Amino acid sequence: MRIANLDGRLTLLTGDRTTPTARAIDVEGASEGRFDADPQRVYDRWDEFRAWARTAGGVRGEAYEPARLRSPAPRPPQVFAIGLNYSEHAAESGFAAPDSAPPVFTKFPACITGPYGSVVLPAGGHTDWEVELVVVIGRRTERVRAEDAWSCVAGLAVGQDLSERVSQMAGPAPQFSLAKSFPRFGPVGPWLVTPDEFDDPDDLALVCSLNGEVVQEGRTSKLLFGIPAILEQLSAVVPLLPGDVVFTGTPSGVGMGRVPPRWLSPGDELVSSVEGIGEMRHWFVGQEN
Ligand code: ZN
Repeated sequence: MRIANLDGRLTLLTGDRTTPTARAIDVEGASEGRFDADPQRVYDRWDEFRAWARTAGGVRGEAYEPARLRSPAPRPPQVFAIGLNYSEHAAESGFAAPDSAPPVFTKFPACITGPYGSVVLPAGGHTDWEVELVVVIGRRTERVRAEDAWSCVAGLAVGQDLSERVSQMAGPAPQFSLAKSFPRFGPVGPWLVTPDEFDDPDDLALVCSLNGEVVQEGRTSKLLFGIPAILEQLSAVVPLLPGDVVFTGTPSGVGMGRVPPRWLSPGDELVSSVEGIGEMRHWFVGQEN
């Protein structure tokens, strides 16, 4: 199953993820008001929604313009992000690969944005790209064991962990959260795909392209801490809430790790994709003054 946020309304996309011409079913209308139009609220009733969605196959749906898509989890209660979760990326960042647990930070939820659109580059900054697989949580989860962790996942989406490296690296210790939370620095989309749609949800290819040039390629099977381990680690401390978003880490190929370093510039176009989900497309503009 795939759900989307179309102009702010919860939408069920017809067919499976391979359907090239999916159609959009407005959930509030098709359910005769049983489910709210607000996409964020569906995660509070995720199991009930999934059961209803199985009965909605007879609804024909309508064609839609992809430009209308927004984030499938637009206002997550909490956003978790995992650092240094691929060994080659840890090395290019100048850090040792984590052994017992990876670093965890947040992207403040106000930075979450949709799969298409422009992003303003912070003045004086060095803004970098990080394609990532994103997990959206489907039920309140405390102290889950890794072997049970997939059951708390509503679905997967493509994420882009945009990062401003000057403020990230300023000061006596790297501070990730603020430097990764400028407006629209947290694209998530283009829709949410449930885990059952994948042959192996623990092995998905990720690609990031800058102006048509592939700059990052990886597979989530190379995560040092895979999704079950991440959810076990997080939920041992913090209850995971319905609609929470987890950025799982980026593979190597970021601009910071290059010689010389390479940063996003006005006019650049960034395409972020994950196998079996889809792609997001963003372009960058400078400050107005
Ligand atoms: Zn990241």
